[in-house]
Amino acid sequence: CGIVGYIGKRDVAPLLLEGLQRLEYRGYDSAGIAIQGKPAKGAQSAGLKTAKAKGRVRELEARLPKRFAGTTGIAHTRWATHGAPNDTNAHPHLDADGKVAVVHNGIIDNAADLRAKLAADGVELASDTDSEALAHLIGRSQAPTLEEKVRHALSMVEGTYGIAVLHADFPDRIVVARNGSPVVLGIGEKEMFVASDVAALVSHTRQVVTLDDGEMATLKADDYRTYTTEGSRTAPSPTTVEWEA
Ligand code: GLU
Repeated sequence: CGIVGYIGKRDVAPLLLEGLQRLEYRGYDSAGIAIQGKPAKGAQSAGLKTAKAKGRVRELEARLPKRFAGTTGIAHTRWATHGAPNDTNAHPHLDADGKVAVVHNGIIDNAADLRAKLAADGVELASDTDSEALAHLIGRSQAPTLEEKVRHALSMVEGTYGIAVLHADFPDRIVVARNGSPVVLGIGEKEMFVASDVAALVSHTRQVVTLDDGEMATLKADDYRTYTTEGSRTAPSPTTVEWEA
């Protein structure tokens, strides 16, 4: 239903919770958040941290662990299509190693097939959702970059998606993709936002890039690039959104 993401220098959890609240008008049954944990001095990555809750954003907020510091993260409000609304089926979904986190809007049509193949490969699926398959497909891809892993996973998927992906081994970026479910990038000063709806961005930036179907993007704190799911670069110009606060 709703997606928000942020990469920059600010403490990410409050920003994401605020973004989710701005999407509340769309309705949802559960919410969740995943962040890149703050690495110890000298370490490259601290791994992902997640929190999920059935119900309102304030229930998610109440459930955030005390130490939930980080400056990169993604969050979701879910409107269940596959699997009951409960804590486990809330997004983000993780792969088996807990290194990949995915939030997904839309419907994966061949989810039953993908889930059966993953199960046959020995993967234990934690949820009943169509979306979880994406996290495992990305996590199991042998492709060298996160962009290629996501592209590889999407090549096996039929259906609609707006997705945002974190990977513990690629802590400097968020990778997003769109096919039939809106994804908008918000361009800030040394910080980038992503959302499924400009309502979640406009309190931070009015400079936006709307992805087309079949388009992906890599967001880093000080830079972004867009490309097709086949990997060729695209160059959409940012537009300025008018918005009455
Ligand atoms: N199909 C997914 C699910 O049921 C995503 C639903 C949504 O767009 O919120 O979990």
